[in-house]
Amino acid sequence: MADAPIIDIARLPHPAPVPGATRQQAIADPGFGKVFTDHMLTIEWSEDRGWHDAQLGPRQPIPLDPAASVLHYAQEIFEGLKAYRLADGSMALFRPDRNARRFNESARRLAMPELPEAAFVEACRALALADRDWFPPVDGGSLYLRPFMFATEAFLGVRPAKQYKFVVIASPAGNYFKSGAPAVSIWVAADHTRAAPGGTGAAKCGGNYAASLVPQADAIARGHDQVVFLDAAERRWIEELGGMNLFFVFADGTLITPPLTGTILPGITRDSLLLLAREEGLTIREERYAIDQWRDDAESGRLVETFACGTAAVVTPVGRVAGEDGAFTIGSGGPGQTTQRLRERLVAIQRGAAPDPHGWVMRL
Ligand code: PMP
Repeated sequence: MADAPIIDIARLPHPAPVPGATRQQAIADPGFGKVFTDHMLTIEWSEDRGWHDAQLGPRQPIPLDPAASVLHYAQEIFEGLKAYRLADGSMALFRPDRNARRFNESARRLAMPELPEAAFVEACRALALADRDWFPPVDGGSLYLRPFMFATEAFLGVRPAKQYKFVVIASPAGNYFKSGAPAVSIWVAADHTRAAPGGTGAAKCGGNYAASLVPQADAIARGHDQVVFLDAAERRWIEELGGMNLFFVFADGTLITPPLTGTILPGITRDSLLLLAREEGLTIREERYAIDQWRDDAESGRLVETFACGTAAVVTPVGRVAGEDGAFTIGSGGPGQTTQRLRERLVAIQRGAAPDPHGWVMRL
């Protein structure tokens, strides 16, 4: 099987890239996930040939047989990472090896082929460089990379497909929060859970997000920003938001975050913050934390801050929590000190404005 690293990428000419003036206009205020660059990178996989045909070419629609098994049984996984602009003007990826590793963990759970980590990272690097002119000229802007893989085999039997496509696309992203991170209000999902023990909660597969849309829409309809999910077995333990992990900060300098027991996504921001928080002298506990305890601790003042974290918004304070039994406020309801300090430290490393002792920043 051809599973040596694929770094031999064929570069196809682009007959009609977006004109410079149109591109400049599109990236001036790109928002998130709406604007796409000129190129995409694709690699094919088949049972007999393994990974082959890596191509960097024009971004275009993908022909798909109507019987392609992704359309029926949802064999699809994805990743999300950003290319940042460093203080010296160069571009860098943040811990892309971790996205590569998590991608393969997702692949294993969904019975899909693993892509050599070096090929994943090289694919991201090659696309970011090809579309470097799409980097938004706004403070805090980034080029968001979306690697994904799906089953292309035309076959309606229920079994792992024998043919897949890996793709990377890129989307210029503005500063998620133009003036620092405002505190968000979250709604506790009562009728829905995101992931069950033994399910796919730890995998980054499209199906998990499809299942989160109704509870997320519920939260918005009730006037909140995000939904928080509880565990499926007891409906008691706090898990994560629809697209971010959670941290709880206590007055005594303890930091709690739910453990990686298979029902939450192992966030790369989560992992990075755990290390930074340890360096700051906080006492870290990766352990279950109950929804009732959260309210009691917020009301008694034992809990002083809560924040959510992920690639898109980095670190976001949670100000208010509401559920069917009423609402409570955390601390002052605004960003707390620990939240801000950890956010600043991480952003400084990501932007090359602080030393990078852990080797997280990969210059392109
Ligand atoms: N949880 C979920 C469900 C997510 O979709 C994400 C975003 N990938 C995260 C947590 C945060 O992960 P990361 O820090 O790697 O972006």
